[in-house]
Amino acid sequence: MSKLANRVALVTGGSRGIGAAIAKRLASDGASVAITYAKDATAASAVVKAIELAGGKAVAIQADAADTKAVNDAVEKAVATLGRLDVLVNNAGTAIPKKFEETTLEEMDRMIDINLRGVFVTTQAALKHMNDGGRIINIGSCVGERLMTPGLVPYAATKGAVKMFTQGLSREVGNRGITVNNVQPGPIDTDLNPAAGDWATPQKAATALDRYGSVDEVAALVSFVAGPESSYITGANLTVDGGTNA
Ligand code: NDP
Repeated sequence: MSKLANRVALVTGGSRGIGAAIAKRLASDGASVAITYAKDATAASAVVKAIELAGGKAVAIQADAADTKAVNDAVEKAVATLGRLDVLVNNAGTAIPKKFEETTLEEMDRMIDINLRGVFVTTQAALKHMNDGGRIINIGSCVGERLMTPGLVPYAATKGAVKMFTQGLSREVGNRGITVNNVQPGPIDTDLNPAAGDWATPQKAATALDRYGSVDEVAALVSFVAGPESSYITGANLTVDGGTNA
């Protein structure tokens, strides 16, 4: 039997990039998957189609992570549609690379609202439904622990906060057998952080493997953390960064 058979996962920001790879991977492991997205309904439908074509079950729900009501409604809809909730992947996130002194308050608020407040709100809503033994997996960043790339000061601060949120929450929900972990990618080739271009050069140089990672390499770690064999891992910061923070 597939390791996530009869499980239901919700992946925020699952229409593109790392989130789409996670959604597809969890579905191929046997889970039914709900994804949220902010704007791109076509991309979200394509992820659902790909999962269905492979024999899985999926639903896409529009919900901006910065919109509390939309997030609460999305969690309710995911549970109503798929029947239960076992795995939450807080993946939706954004970066606005800029020197700190040039970053506007609006830009900082946007990063806080999506990367941090969105994680709080989604997790609270999900915990109302999550079964014992569930999994909360936050997608932080290796820059939440160590920052060498210029232009990411407020972004890194939000990801550092995700790290502490993970550690703290793990102690509050452990008595239900729910684990809470923080998967911290390094430079991963997506629309948010393309492997080509000037911005990529210092990030690639900072890795031990001298390359960007792929979305599937992050999804593989998330798949393990979502599965039954990770049952004694909680409150952990699991870095998948090609050695960036080594
Ligand atoms: P992308 O920008 O490539 O994809 C972002 C996804 O999230 C899309 O599906 C997008 O949907 C959705 N999304 C964006 N904003 C919102 C929002 N406000 N509410 C709900 N969904 C939203 O990003 P990545 O795949 O690169 O990043 C995913 C996560 O991984 C983020 O948390 C990021 O911080 C983290 N990360 C990424 C790294 C990288 O190098 N790529 C490194 C370390 C961490 P739509 O198209 O509809 O807007």
